[in-house]
Amino acid sequence: MKTFVYIDHFKGEVQPGSWEALGLAKTFGAATALVFGSAVEDVAKAAFEYGADEVLLADDPVLLDYRAEPYASTLSALASSSTPDLILFPTTTRTRELAAMSALDLNSNVITDATAVEINSDTIFVTRPIYEAKLFEKVTASARPQLITLRGRAFPKPEQEAGRTGTITKVEAKTEALSSVEGYSVAEVGVSLNDAGVIVSGGRGVSNNPSLQPPAGMDDKQAEVWRAQQGFKLVGELASVLGGAVGASRAAVDAGYIPYSNQVGQTGKVVAPDLYIAAGISGAIQHLAGIRSAKMVVAINKDADAPIFKVARYGVVGDLFVILPALTEAFKKKLGK
Ligand SMILES: Cc1cc2nc3c(=O)[nH]c(=O)nc-3n(C[C@H](O)[C@H](O)[C@H](O)COP(=O)(O)OP(=O)(O)OC[C@H]3O[C@@H](n4cnc5c(N)ncnc54)[C@H](O)[C@@H]3O)c2cc1C
Repeated sequence: MKTFVYIDHFKGEVQPGSWEALGLAKTFGAATALVFGSAVEDVAKAAFEYGADEVLLADDPVLLDYRAEPYASTLSALASSSTPDLILFPTTTRTRELAAMSALDLNSNVITDATAVEINSDTIFVTRPIYEAKLFEKVTASARPQLITLRGRAFPKPEQEAGRTGTITKVEAKTEALSSVEGYSVAEVGVSLNDAGVIVSGGRGVSNNPSLQPPAGMDDKQAEVWRAQQGFKLVGELASVLGGAVGASRAAVDAGYIPYSNQVGQTGKVVAPDLYIAAGISGAIQHLAGIRSAKMVVAINKDADAPIFKVARYGVVGDLFVILPALTEAFKKKLGK
């Protein structure tokens, strides 16, 4: 099976899912990494350290910023001339677009969000979640090349082997572009929810501490948001001690406690951390849709009957304003922080 792996990065910062894709590709035989960008030799070098046997490098100033047209044309031209059987991508906003455009160019097919890929006598079987991850479907793909985007953290990341090298082959970048990037503004800070091994999330309950006295002059709504911000500080402190990311329920986002980029669930991010701590979140079905792949859920809620306890491995019935600081202190001691 001739396998290409697209290494997705933002200005040289590689999405960890790219290395997971490379690890999967290696289980099928030799893996060719595709690195596109401008001045991205370091990404190509890292690809060897994560197991690539060969790197095809399109390094051109026109590829400095990701745009669908030049990236898809470059990828499609490469795939047409080199005829891989399989092209793997980590699932990101960029690769969803890129894989779809290239699949069209190549008269082929893309399967998104795979959680397992098996090859049995040249037939490719892909498993992926459907219906908000209530079911997993297994599909076969007869197109060649078959394009597949992989769900983050569904596949093990290979160990980095420092100093491992190989041959980089430069390839031509296609330069036609209909758009240009004028600039970036940061929407998300800290650890990304998609890559986080630990997520601590807060819900509407983070505003529920009537004993907190807001600064004078605030109306009821402002006082509620202020209280919620104190609650999210506690959420953030625990996340920070654990090296994790901060998530939220939609109720918390809709109430203006925290930006949408933190929302987990059906209409937010679908996450797959090793540990998901839900504080003041009831566990509505739409929230659970986002955490079905979490390996362990811990719930903190005042209400012993909250549905979140049905999916939690460990549950604490109590006030998050008491439990979160206690957990943060305990982890600080345990981790020597
Ligand atoms: C089409 C659609 C899409 C949706 N998409 C999403 C989505 O992507 N993500 C999402 O989260 N929701 C989504 N929702 C909304 C979802 O149905 C729920 O309304 C939402 O998840 C509830 O958020 P919550 O658990 O924070 O709030 P609530 O349901 O109000 O729960 C708050 C919880 O906090 C507890 N609590 C209160 N005070 C404390 C305290 N001091 N200490 C400890 N616990 C406390 C309460 O006991 C309660 O269980 C969607 C809904 C629809 C219709």
